[in-house]
Amino acid sequence: MRPEMRELLVDVAERAANFAFAIPERSVAPAAEDVNRLQVLRGPFPETPTAPSEVVRLLDEIGSPATVASTGGRYFGFVIGGTLPAALAANWLAGAWDQNCALAVMSPVAATLEEISLEWLRELFGLPQSCGAGFVTGATMANFTCLAAARNELLRRAGWNVEEQGLFGAPELRVVVGAEVHVSLLKALAMLGLGRSRVTVVPADEQGRMRAGALPRLGERSILCIQAGNVNTGAFDPAEEICRRARGEGAWVHVDAAFGMWAAAAPTHAHLFRPFVEADSWATDCHKWLNVPYDSGLAFVRQAAHLRNAMMVRAGYLQPGASREPMYYTPDASRRARGVEIWAALKSLGRTGLAEMIERDCRLAVRFAEGIAGAGYDVLNEVVLNQVLVSFGDSALNKRIIAAIQADGTCWCGGTEWRGKAVMRVSVSCWATTEKDIDRSLEAIIRIAKNTKSTESPSF
Ligand SMILES: *Cc1c(COP(=O)(O)O)cnc(C)c1O
Repeated sequence: MRPEMRELLVDVAERAANFAFAIPERSVAPAAEDVNRLQVLRGPFPETPTAPSEVVRLLDEIGSPATVASTGGRYFGFVIGGTLPAALAANWLAGAWDQNCALAVMSPVAATLEEISLEWLRELFGLPQSCGAGFVTGATMANFTCLAAARNELLRRAGWNVEEQGLFGAPELRVVVGAEVHVSLLKALAMLGLGRSRVTVVPADEQGRMRAGALPRLGERSILCIQAGNVNTGAFDPAEEICRRARGEGAWVHVDAAFGMWAAAAPTHAHLFRPFVEADSWATDCHKWLNVPYDSGLAFVRQAAHLRNAMMVRAGYLQPGASREPMYYTPDASRRARGVEIWAALKSLGRTGLAEMIERDCRLAVRFAEGIAGAGYDVLNEVVLNQVLVSFGDSALNKRIIAAIQADGTCWCGGTEWRGKAVMRVSVSCWATTEKDIDRSLEAIIRIAKNTKSTESPSF
């Protein structure tokens, strides 16, 4: 068995290496016939075993061509980011380790790498020593986890134990969000029994930033949710003024910083995140701008105890040791060892490498915007970070051009709605993106936009 397993792992490494090597030159979107070929993987649940080598062969031959090359340098959809070489390799090794990172005793290495990563990141982001964090699946769960800590602590101050007593009959909490709040935060509120619609909405300005002047009176039972990095424009809420107000009134400030938090790593952009360190909790993604594999997010809470109080479980067989117990900071218990990839990414980049990666993506976003504007099309946002909003004309034309860009395969850009209009959204979030990638993508986009305009036809 063991020699065969070794052969299998070497074979899959070879296949994966071939896949990664081909990424820079392949079409970003998969060909329709390759997607159709996925049907080969269907059929009834097999009655008898299939050799592992055959399983991997099928996955590679049928599955690999049907992937979207979102790990490459010309994927600008959503806010995605590829995986760094060291992070991918660490992910494989951690897969082979097969560690469960619930309790330190289950995996000293996984627990230790979480601790080290946390220490490095706390320093990088400028968060206080008192702060604790949970390694979760992404920013949605990070928002959920942070808001659970907020709910616990604000109600505890009001003499109510929400984990024990639930929300029925509890003192009311007020939740305040900006008009541009991310849907994942609303989903977190929904899951926490705080209500998606039971929020006070503060208007936003033309870049999507919360208007600090329009902030209502908060009070000590309020959770105020702000953003570092608007998902469309990349804009940052005016945190300094907001945090000062909230502090004075005893409110809890939570920051959705899914990708904006990483601005802290780049000297050129660190000022954007700095005022947010005055908040009480922060949600971020590692699978976006740190470029580690999915699923990887972090929930930071200013006072580790507030997070622990909300996430703690006790059972006779779960005996805590002396060190930090990973599962006391997350909604889940059994978990893969996400800290391994985070540690590997941080170790491989170092402070200078991470700064260079963030700065480069921001610089390339500006290059993209300049290319678009130079061709006579509209850039709708101030490019403060890595996001660019583009319009070629009316909503219908924009939608047609976006579809044609995706079908062309040179690059991939997604659509969004901005101020009532369908527009194109570009996010430069990958370590692998180069100036050449931007220029090649611009060439394709401008060519397609010109053709679409002149023909007014969706068919090419
Ligand atoms: C991506 C994103 C989220 C959701 O993150 P997931 O990792 O997909 O759960 C939340 N907020 C913002 C601002 C985002 O960009």
